[in-house]
Amino acid sequence: MQTTSRPAVDPQQILRDLPQTGGVVPMYVDGRWKLAADGGTRDLVNPATGEKIATVAEGAQRDAEEAIRAARRAFDEGPWGSISAAERAALLLKLADRIDDCREEFTRIDTLNNGKPLREAEYDAIDAANCFRYYAGLATKPHGQTFDVPAPSQTFTVREAIGVCGQIVPWNYPLLMAVWKLAPALAAGNVCVLKPAELTPLSTLRLASLFEELDFPAGVVNIVTGAGATVGHAIAASNLVDKVAFTGGTKTGRSIMQAATGNLKKISLELGGKSPNVVFADADFDTAVDYALFGIFANSGQVCSAGSRLILERSLHDTFVGKLVERAKKIRVGDGFDPSTEMGPIISPMHRERVEDYIEIGRKEGAKVLCGGERLGGSLANGNFIAPTIFDATNPEMRIVQEEIFGPVLAIQTFEDEADAIRLANDTVYGLAGAVFTQDIGKAHRVIRKLRAGITWINTYHPTYNEAPWGGYKQSGIGRELGTYGYDAYTEVKQINVNLDVAPSGWFSE
Ligand code: NAD
Repeated sequence: MQTTSRPAVDPQQILRDLPQTGGVVPMYVDGRWKLAADGGTRDLVNPATGEKIATVAEGAQRDAEEAIRAARRAFDEGPWGSISAAERAALLLKLADRIDDCREEFTRIDTLNNGKPLREAEYDAIDAANCFRYYAGLATKPHGQTFDVPAPSQTFTVREAIGVCGQIVPWNYPLLMAVWKLAPALAAGNVCVLKPAELTPLSTLRLASLFEELDFPAGVVNIVTGAGATVGHAIAASNLVDKVAFTGGTKTGRSIMQAATGNLKKISLELGGKSPNVVFADADFDTAVDYALFGIFANSGQVCSAGSRLILERSLHDTFVGKLVERAKKIRVGDGFDPSTEMGPIISPMHRERVEDYIEIGRKEGAKVLCGGERLGGSLANGNFIAPTIFDATNPEMRIVQEEIFGPVLAIQTFEDEADAIRLANDTVYGLAGAVFTQDIGKAHRVIRKLRAGITWINTYHPTYNEAPWGGYKQSGIGRELGTYGYDAYTEVKQINVNLDVAPSGWFSE
């Protein structure tokens, strides 16, 4: 394994266009920048260096409630409801162009705050602009249906905004996860109260300044920074919120679902995974090795859809594992600001310890560490770096095979035949994603159709498109984001019946 250098970066320079009040980056509520009502603040740290990069307002329940009331007013009384779909689309297209203008800035903010390599952060910034473009396009497309019902009725449906949408997102794709929620919600005419992850709010706050610059009406987009247990819970529990959309861990998803029962608000949940990557002996060898690495080590394995279980046909095992380990050891790990870095740090010391605990659990369970398995020191000692880690000789009962580690840790399983591969692949409470590598197209389709997962790939891993639905089976979530499904998830359907022959029904005698 190789490490990269630590270039000098100036956080003040990277964050120069973020508003600051007395050295604190405020939150954005009701079209204004404000500090936390109780004066709370949180220091943010660069996960690659351990150095403080900024102080942000740390909101609490009161701040969330203020934002929710502002959103409620904006939806019930503000101009947003009477703006046409075409006008909303035009605004979202302008926003997409401004994100493109600021692409380098967004890239650098997410590398600074999340640690991901510049190349990955840049993809996120490009996708973010395109996500707004995609939903701007969808806003003006036909959405209703007409029905051939008995005369004299005419029946049709319209899709309408749900109202105030609470949105809670994680830290692994700070900008993109926020945009996946804001873009469809706004395109459909909703208003939003979004809580970024407490560790990574900076790119979302920069996005808020673009909403301000483009004169989105006050209260339409509110960004409340703070912890999950306070701000997040207040959003999920509020009776003034019509829908809550959450991306994060399955355990948190459960508590959000419970909190949402008060007013039976609509919910969308995008949760964790332990996704299988099935490789048959007839796969294109180099392609399969390449994507096995990409599947687990992209974004340091902190990807909900990571291919964290590599399920290999037995006859292929030794040669495949040999090559995989050889290449894993060559991955360049280090500070995301070094352009040669291929894998960055883990998000926080706490999460790094969690990943290290799992590595220890794997060892104790009897799995064999083929590479990695340790924290990186030397010039990387102040950051949260873990070497790309591969476990072999696992069995399905092991916790490292069943539980989401959310780090650069791969568990290898071995199968005998197609039925065995499918059984192992589905032996999980999760159902987010999965892939199969084979040159037999019939086999590829048979296996994919048996996978109990919402996102699947054949001879590739990870490509994600704004146009196609994203979400999981089983405990990986409820509902879908992206594509037309993601738009529909931010609408209510209204049935409209018109009597074309206006006359009394005659049901009751006069
Ligand atoms: P997390 O569940 O700890 O936190 C996610 C968000 O929820 C954060 O903003 C957090 O502050 C908030 N939160 C925490 N407790 C809350 C509560 N009680 N009420 C309301 N909000 C609360 O997850 P994380 O550690 O930030 O992210 C990692 C998890 O996210 C992984 O499990 C990963 O698989 C999942 N994830 C899923 C997808 C997907 O599309 N399915 C995408 C990215 C990440």
